[in-house]
Amino acid sequence: MPLKTLKYTLSLVKPEFATSQKGKRLIKMGAYTFRLQGVTHDRARWCCSTHNSKGCNAAVHTINDQLVHIKNVHNH
Ligand SMILES: [Zn+2]
Repeated sequence: MPLKTLKYTLSLVKPEFATSQKGKRLIKMGAYTFRLQGVTHDRARWCCSTHNSKGCNAAVHTINDQLVHIKNVHNH
């Protein structure tokens, strides 16, 4: 399977929870990193790390560190 296809095949992308050098929580999925944007009730929203610099709208939502929503489409 070409790498480009792999990127968008969600079932093959395993999210990894990590901590940045500044102590912020991150999710790494393949080549992309998501930053915690906010938490509403139990639902945490994570946006692509280039959301601010490139306007990428990819995002994931988690509840208790379980992925409940993934929009893993990037503009970069
Ligand atoms: Zn992105």
